[in-house]
Amino acid sequence: MDTFRAEKLNNFNLPRRIERLGELAYNLWWTWVPEAHDLFEDVDPSLWERLDHNPVRFLREVGRAQLNAVTHSKAYLDLYDRILAAFDDYMAAEDSWFQRNHAELRNNPIAYFSTEFGLHETLPIYAGGLGILSGDHLKEASDLGLPMVAVGFIYTQGYFSQHITEDGWQEARQVTLKFEELPVMPVVDDRGEPMLVTVELPDRDVDARIWEIHVGRVPLYMLDSNVESNTPADRELTARLYSSDLDLRISQEMVLGIGGVRALRMLGYNPVVWHMNEGHSAFLALEQARELVQAGHNFEDAVAKLRAGNIFTTHTPVPAGSDEFPLWLIDKYFSHFWPQLGLERDEFIEVAHREMPWGETFSMPVLAIRTSEQLNGVSELHGRVARRMWNFLWPERREDEVPIGHITNGIHPGTWIARSLKDLLDEYLPQDWLEHVDDPDVWEGVQDIPDSELWEVRRHLKRKLAHYVRERARQQWLHDGVHPVQVVASGALLDPYMLTIGFARRFATYKRAGLILRERERLFDLLNQPNRPVQIVFSGKAHPADEPGKQLIQEVYRAVKDADNGGRLVFLEDYDINLARYLVQGVDVWLNTPRRPNEASGTSGEKAALNGALNFSVLDGWWREGFNGKNGWAIGKDRQYEDDEQQDADDVASLYHTLENEIIPLYYNRNNPGGYPAEWLAMVKESIRTLAPQFSMRRMVKEYAEELYLPATEKRVQPVK
Ligand SMILES: *Cc1c(COP(=O)(O)O)cnc(C)c1O
Repeated sequence: MDTFRAEKLNNFNLPRRIERLGELAYNLWWTWVPEAHDLFEDVDPSLWERLDHNPVRFLREVGRAQLNAVTHSKAYLDLYDRILAAFDDYMAAEDSWFQRNHAELRNNPIAYFSTEFGLHETLPIYAGGLGILSGDHLKEASDLGLPMVAVGFIYTQGYFSQHITEDGWQEARQVTLKFEELPVMPVVDDRGEPMLVTVELPDRDVDARIWEIHVGRVPLYMLDSNVESNTPADRELTARLYSSDLDLRISQEMVLGIGGVRALRMLGYNPVVWHMNEGHSAFLALEQARELVQAGHNFEDAVAKLRAGNIFTTHTPVPAGSDEFPLWLIDKYFSHFWPQLGLERDEFIEVAHREMPWGETFSMPVLAIRTSEQLNGVSELHGRVARRMWNFLWPERREDEVPIGHITNGIHPGTWIARSLKDLLDEYLPQDWLEHVDDPDVWEGVQDIPDSELWEVRRHLKRKLAHYVRERARQQWLHDGVHPVQVVASGALLDPYMLTIGFARRFATYKRAGLILRERERLFDLLNQPNRPVQIVFSGKAHPADEPGKQLIQEVYRAVKDADNGGRLVFLEDYDINLARYLVQGVDVWLNTPRRPNEASGTSGEKAALNGALNFSVLDGWWREGFNGKNGWAIGKDRQYEDDEQQDADDVASLYHTLENEIIPLYYNRNNPGGYPAEWLAMVKESIRTLAPQFSMRRMVKEYAEELYLPATEKRVQPVK
């Protein structure tokens, strides 16, 4: 779909010899190809760092002299030619996995809807794990050559940037995105005017324009209500993620679901498969039904027909977490819509009706479930929890007969692996290992890596983390007017050589960030043992409306500021993709303490494992499947609790016991001439070897393709009579 214009690309005024840098800047492919980073970074490393790895701004601001200089460097030009040739090969997609295995289905687009996409640090249009998963999913769909097209929002204000006050209170700082400085393109019509989709809301129409991001071969279309034809209030409709204002939320979700279908139609797509990543986009099914009813079907037939191509992935293991609208709101927003479906009000409500403790609702997950033939949770345990949670929709069935399966989440290795580790693996794994990253055999070569080389890379990555953190602390001291104790709290004393534990994720209470602080004196003693010191790095944002989450940050921050910890606790502000990359690559141990079974999957531990950190986590979500007794440590047992307090107490006891008796001694056991911990490294190898293939996005997207997308496609393309 080449409706946009490439004129923007030419604004950079680049030297002819390297003018295709502009094209590269507008395709996120470069973000997961390490050598492609160099094409920008090598021109002016400090500017590249200062601009947060934003190639569009970089190419606008970089000096002509620097650009001219690289055009005289043979090494640079060789790299340039090689990378652009690789890019062209990649985009031509002649021998992708999908082409090789399912070429006959390549003209049947798969539409993927999500409210957030975590693609790169320059695009803060994600809040957490759901967004990272969507972003990684698109990258892998592109690598595999799936005919995918994605729909979401570009939020003009992005997700907030986090600042912590001296007393540990999270302040949300608004960011305003400048689209002209981002790798996004406006979608325009033949006359160069923005293309608009229109969605009817009570008493008014809302228009949305469309922006496009190229995620390799996959186009991502993002809706944006900030257009002149809208009222000032409607122009703000898509300004922020996850508002708690119900009117705003339902309006947003109508724009995403209904407007998203219309946008795809307008762009010429007729997807046969529609994947709803979480229920926020479920109104898309109502728009599909409206189209079919307008074409002469009755509602029941319409749903029977559209269901075959719809897929719903749930990520929410607790009823309170799902997206529910009170009925008065549905009356307000959909009274013009149900007649178009040929339905009466009560029939319409019935489609997604749910009884919540606080009243009757129109439930987005129920809507998604009723209008999707294929349903899945995101880990084995979460699948089980989801079957229990939604059993009431199939009252005649036993829990284990509820038709919700699972596909466990994964991560996109090219995005998350450290460059230096990738270089090391290049030496010991088969050529093209990244192309076969989901094949366990490919990873056998990890056993052949000499301990000393692996240890050197691990040390390098921790030094990089420490260096980065200390530089950030210094910059805060220099520019942000923070109190000296905050400079210490933000990592000025971080040591590049001691055992380092990372805990970074959204601060939602179920993740129990405070668990490791329960017995404070015991912990502080442990951190400050003379020959076996330990440091812990915390990071994460709480949703701005989540008061308990913010209190949790405060509790952690107060412990971090406590002088008795000896500078061994650190809290890093403003967790994002960039910081996540440093952390998952640099720490030795990745700690996760969710209250089971609330971590539907979790993915950050998968990123850490890929990079040679060892997981130390509750047996929930992905780790329950990944842990084999030799590739990391479990906190607690593979069991359920009725009583939260008992669960917390048992988990705390288990956590301290393992930390004291296993993790710390193992790390500091340097009983060999090289001075490295041989048994620790054996565990690291076991972890990489077993976890990297199993929790790769490649394994995951292939499962979505083969278990869900392709069966749905075949059913719809060759209907069985
Ligand atoms: C991976 C990632 C997450 C998700 O982490 P969980 O393990 O699911 O908590 C959230 N935020 C960022 C920035 C990430 O990189």
